[in-house]
Parts: sequence; structure tokens; C-alpha cells
Amino acid sequence: MKRIIPYAHGLLQEVVQDGDVAIDATCGNGHDTLLLSRLVGINGEVHSFDIQEQAITNTSQLLKENDVTNVQLHLDGHENVDKYLHDKAIRAAIFNLGYLPGEDHSIITKPETTIEAIQKIQDRLVTGGRIVLVIYHGHEGGREEKESVVSYCEALDQKHFEVTRYEFINQINLPPFVVAIEKRK
Ligand code: SAM
Repeated sequence: MKRIIPYAHGLLQEVVQDGDVAIDATCGNGHDTLLLSRLVGINGEVHSFDIQEQAITNTSQLLKENDVTNVQLHLDGHENVDKYLHDKAIRAAIFNLGYLPGEDHSIITKPETTIEAIQKIQDRLVTGGRIVLVIYHGHEGGREEKESVVSYCEALDQKHFEVTRYEFINQINLPPFVVAIEKRK
């Protein structure tokens, strides 16, 4: 069975193609950004967001080590995605909710801003495009965010979006799970 991160990456790999526009909404140490940059290729573009300078520095370093040139890093909240993407059509976005491992555990994603960003991105998704949410919820504040985000996703109109959930249901310590939103015609 696929672990959570490989499963989330697989959902991106299935839809992202050369020349696409993609978003890493929480770049952290840059692993998802690096994957997206490879999937969109030199003709595509990736926009990566984080509110912590350390995350932008770490991601920038990883991209430099891998000679990546198709990524724009934004030291800004993902809720401001519209400032940078304007009317661009988006193929895919990934969110890793929670805190940046090894850094301040009190700097976490928050339900209101996460949902605002999802709303803005879902409106710009191409048909077949996906938003992949990796929901970590074992930390303080995590349960509230999980409940809000899952409720929001459950209420999306099935005429316009398909929403799935992938999780291990017999693991201890509140393991993360994946919710994926795909835009229908
Ligand atoms: N994807 C990352 C990786 O591969 O290393 C891990 C991301 S970590 C779980 C969550 C990140 O979300 C943190 O780096 C945190 O600073 C960031 N964050 C919190 N609120 C944010 C916001 N409103 N907009 C963008 N990033 C935010």
C-alpha cells in the first residue's frame, strides 16, 4: 500500500504535464516544489508559498542544488495566491497542512486561510486539475483545521468537483491523510 506522501505525489504525477502551472501552497523544505518543478518542465511554472523566511531559504537552497529555474517563491500566505496567479489556469496544487518539522511548532496553517486559498485555487483549476491536501492534525490546532477543511471539502458541489479521501484507519498517533479535489467539466 502506498504511504501518504507517495500517494499524494502520485495524484500530482497523474495529471501534471509539461508546460502546466502548478502551486505548492506550503513549500516548507521544498520537496513538493521540487517534484512539481520536474513535472511542469522548462515550459511550465510553479508558484510556491510559505509565510516563514526559513522555509523560503530551505526551498531556494534545494532548488539551487537541483538547477531548477521554473519556480517562483513567494514569502506570503497562500490565501494571497490571486495576487501572483491573476487569471492563470492551474493544473494542480498541493498543501501540506500543519507545522514545518524542526522549526517553530506554533507556526501552523490555519483553517480560515487554508480554505480561502482552496477557494481561490479551485476557481482557477482546469478540467481534470487537482488540489491535493495532506492533512496533518496531531498537533495543537490540528483537529480544528482538519474538521473545517474536511467539512468544506465534503460540501463541494459534486456537479463541479469529485472529492476523495485516503487514510490508514488502524494506525496510532493520528496519522496524516489525503483529501483530493478534482475539477469536473
Ligand atoms: N511541504 C513541505 C515540505 O515538503 O517540506 C512541508 C510543509 S509544512 C507541513 C507546513 C508549512 O506551511 C510550514 O512551512 C508553514 O510555515 C507554512 N504555512 C503556514 N501558514 C501558511 C500560509 N498561510 N501560507 C503559506 N504557508 C503557510
